[in-house]
Amino acid sequence: MNREIYMNIKGLTIKKIHHDLTKKEYSSRELTEAFFNHIKKEDAKIGAFLDLSENMAMRQAEEVDKNISAGKGPGVLGGVPMAIKDNILIEGLRCTAASKILKDYKAAYNATVINKLRLAGAIFLGKTNMDEFAMGSSTENSAFQVTHNPHDLERVPGGSSGGSAAAVASEMAIAALGSDTGGSIRQPAALCGTVGLKPTYGAVSRYGVMAMASSLDQIGPFTKTVEDAALLLKELSGQDPMDSTSASFKFGADLLSPNIEDIKKLKVGIPEEYFVEGLDKNIAAKMNEVVKDFEKLGIKTKKISLPHTKYALSCYYIIMPAEVSANLSRFDGIRYGTREKADNLIDLYKKNRESGFGAESKRRILLGTFVLSSGYYDAYYAKAQKARALIRKDFDEAFKEVDVILTPVTPTPAFKIGEKSDDPLAMYLSDIFTIPVNLAGVPAVSIPVKNNSGLPIGFQLIGKHFREADILGIGQFYEKLYN
Ligand code: GLN
Repeated sequence: MNREIYMNIKGLTIKKIHHDLTKKEYSSRELTEAFFNHIKKEDAKIGAFLDLSENMAMRQAEEVDKNISAGKGPGVLGGVPMAIKDNILIEGLRCTAASKILKDYKAAYNATVINKLRLAGAIFLGKTNMDEFAMGSSTENSAFQVTHNPHDLERVPGGSSGGSAAAVASEMAIAALGSDTGGSIRQPAALCGTVGLKPTYGAVSRYGVMAMASSLDQIGPFTKTVEDAALLLKELSGQDPMDSTSASFKFGADLLSPNIEDIKKLKVGIPEEYFVEGLDKNIAAKMNEVVKDFEKLGIKTKKISLPHTKYALSCYYIIMPAEVSANLSRFDGIRYGTREKADNLIDLYKKNRESGFGAESKRRILLGTFVLSSGYYDAYYAKAQKARALIRKDFDEAFKEVDVILTPVTPTPAFKIGEKSDDPLAMYLSDIFTIPVNLAGVPAVSIPVKNNSGLPIGFQLIGKHFREADILGIGQFYEKLYN
């Protein structure tokens, strides 16, 4: 038995764990214990986890070990220690979405993604911190704690899935799940230096995930390598009778085994609208290096235009709050939420929602209620839907010329804790490059720029609907250039 594992969990990937468990280098139990030991030391300074689920994890690890001893093998994700964003339900565990209103809520059932990961043998280490109900870009909107960026503890990890990104970046989990409504997987992945994938809308079931804006939300993985992201997507995706928006699409063999000859044939577009004033100079320079790396792989790039990009942020901040105001109406102190003492029903709603929601949630509920109210609906909501159609059409047109689009993920690297928390508009701008993707429903991945000193930077690859194989394929060969 190789006891080294206690010393070194760095550099482990899903693929490596599968190999090691199969070869009996260590047991799933030993590996899981090693992770909890590491978390107990490391998380005191990072604050990535809201809750740890040690008992559940040890039981799961024992099951994996039993399967291995019985000769059944570990399973595709067997023994892989994972962290789960706290808006995804795991039966029996607390699920708060980092909101005071759900501080005592225990999940009554598993999200479909959780069932799928369980079947594949994954281990759940715990639930991660986030911006309340996934609204934010820094994880500072959590009602419970601040999460620190592992690369610089004075800086934010990004958000809203900041806990998941920080957990993977500080080796406290091999992979994590997040949700992405306007960038909440890709932006924290970029700021923490991990891979973060937002799948095509409908590729992964949303059943059992607390809804923020249902027409934009998707669940996806944080991983250390692009290859691991592809492995997880394969397991997570598929049609689910419990989610009518989930698609029956099945990914092909090229998702896991991309072929360099096919990858060379892909044409990559670079949209001029993403290289504008406000983009950090170092990020702009790094994007040029990425283009050169693509050329080394034999991939051709081309300048393109996505002319309606400038409307994306305003369009998102109408459609998203409208859906938020509807989705968050269930937290009323009766169906869900804490129950304060009150004299009558209206009072009960008011008291619970007043004390249960944080400032950002309230801001968006009010904004959403306003844009949906009679007299304003056409001026705001209906108009935003038209703008959304134009943004989607931009992508359709661009994808007639190119197969993949390359952009920065964020305008700046990780900012300081507190720097933007009093300025919602400055915070909203952090997602300017990720939001159009959700409006169009296409897949996109954030990949850490290699050969980079200082704070992590990511580049974004956007693909055609259900062509995750293209963006992950390029990503896998890009990573190999540096291995
Ligand atoms: N940061 C964006 C927002 O605040 C995106 C959130 C998300 O993707 N969940 O809305």
